[in-house]
Amino acid sequence: MYKICAWCKKSLSADTEIEGDGISHGICPDCKLALLKAEFPTHLDTFLESMDVPVVLMDGGRHILYANEHALKLSSKNRGNYRGELGGDFIQCKHAESENGCGETEHCGACVIKSSVEITYKTGRDVIDARGFQEIRTQRGVERIYISITTIKKGDLVVLTIKDAEPPIVSG
Ligand SMILES: [Zn+2]
Repeated sequence: MYKICAWCKKSLSADTEIEGDGISHGICPDCKLALLKAEFPTHLDTFLESMDVPVVLMDGGRHILYANEHALKLSSKNRGNYRGELGGDFIQCKHAESENGCGETEHCGACVIKSSVEITYKTGRDVIDARGFQEIRTQRGVERIYISITTIKKGDLVVLTIKDAEPPIVSG
């Protein structure tokens, strides 16, 4: 397995010992420094728009404060003012439609977006390349998408990057 920076696509060759096939995504020191230095909202939105991957800025309660253009394309919903929406409402997670709402259903304990944001928000630690899936509503009905999540704490906010991931290989 080789690892690339999800932000600039540069190879992170220090991590080549990871076993397995495919690509793992992280963030390189240069991109992380640039991310941490950018001021919100004055420069950070410009910086996030320059990224070639879907990136959103969330608060500790998983409300979306900013989504770049790639992130907006993840949702087939007609975009009005998305700011303040919960992550599951933003991506149209099937479970967010239930009575309890995003983050509060029996399925949410396994949600890689929720767990990554919470770990990073509470501990300040980066979560790099956490894998999972979401069941989202699309024009074709509910579809399962496999994703890789990276979360980084910036001040009192969490920067979350979403990448497509390969479905896990089921043995047997
Ligand atoms: Zn980079």
